[in-house]
Amino acid sequence: MSKRDFYEVLGLSKGASERDIKKAYKRLAMKYHPDRTKGDKTLEERFKEVKEAYEVLSDPQKKEAYDHYGHAGVDPNRGGFGGGGAQDFGDIFGDVFGDIFGGGRAGGGGGRRQPQRGSDLRYNMELTLEQAVKGVKREIKVPTLVHCEQCNGTGAKKGSKPKTCGTCHGQGQVQMRQGFFAVQQTCPTCKGRGTIISDPCHKCHGEGRYERSKTLSVSIPAGVDTGDRIRLSGEGEAGEHGAPAGDLYVQVHVKEHPIFQRDGNNLYCEVPISFTLAALGGEIEVPTLDGRVNLKVPTETQTGRMFRMRGKGVKSVRSGATGDLICKVIVETPVNLNETQKQLLREFEESCGGSASKKHKPKAEGFFDGVKKFFDDLTS
Ligand SMILES: [Zn+2]
Ligand SMILES: [Zn+2]
Repeated sequence: MSKRDFYEVLGLSKGASERDIKKAYKRLAMKYHPDRTKGDKTLEERFKEVKEAYEVLSDPQKKEAYDHYGHAGVDPNRGGFGGGGAQDFGDIFGDVFGDIFGGGRAGGGGGRRQPQRGSDLRYNMELTLEQAVKGVKREIKVPTLVHCEQCNGTGAKKGSKPKTCGTCHGQGQVQMRQGFFAVQQTCPTCKGRGTIISDPCHKCHGEGRYERSKTLSVSIPAGVDTGDRIRLSGEGEAGEHGAPAGDLYVQVHVKEHPIFQRDGNNLYCEVPISFTLAALGGEIEVPTLDGRVNLKVPTETQTGRMFRMRGKGVKSVRSGATGDLICKVIVETPVNLNETQKQLLREFEESCGGSASKKHKPKAEGFFDGVKKFFDDLTS
């Protein structure tokens, strides 16, 4: 399948500015993002196409190569400039929302332009496994646009009101003559709002909102995992001229833990045990997130054996079901042996009937039979 022109993918013509490229990408990425299109394969393909086009056109070096040589200039399979292959969708909201900081959404169709709802914001939060499992309350600081309390979001100085625009008489649109044609255009005086602020509010300079760092207290529920998002409704940027605020999304990322690995609601850990303990059996202490617990190791335990401790995993934030802790024991070969200890081991080996005997080696017999059969098959 031949690739579509990257400019065409973004709905732009060749030579589009960096700003236009960014704007087009933002708009299309929001439209086709898999979070919104819910598994529609065609739209997902569109999204990948848009992302690929943006990756090339937003990079000055790749863009130049593409402008000169087309797809051949940026094809990762042809060497030259490196290109992103199949990437996940994870980073995209970072790009998009990062960009949106301070920016507005694209305006709607004709007629009077409605004040735009505030943009959504995203906050990345790193948690330790313990915090994710038990829940945590965190204060976060977000740079945002807040509602101007001075003018109550209108943008007009206290005591004054926005006036109807004289150019368009409040329509937001004006008719322009171009030769024989009358063309509808957004009113240049009021930028389509239909009103004019002649006496702007000092605090927000007529915007109805201003930049500020907002501190919020966020409660992270117990059981969250990497990829979970917590939506704080109305905590995004304030809207234009008193329009509703956007939402704030807290994106959770759980750091790696030195002992436990998490898989859904289960936790895994590896516990080293000595080979004497493995042979004779006994009790060991294993770590859980609530402290240590005893685990009974039966006699003749082989390395790699897993022990399931029910209910010692993670309580799901959705279903409330609790997972298990799975401990894998690893039998350790002793190190730093002195001469006496080595002698004891040699005697021990003797007592087992020497290295050739398989009586005390449960895996050896099956294994060496397999090896023998393998070589027999090769030679026959
Ligand atoms: Zn104000
Ligand atoms: Zn106007």
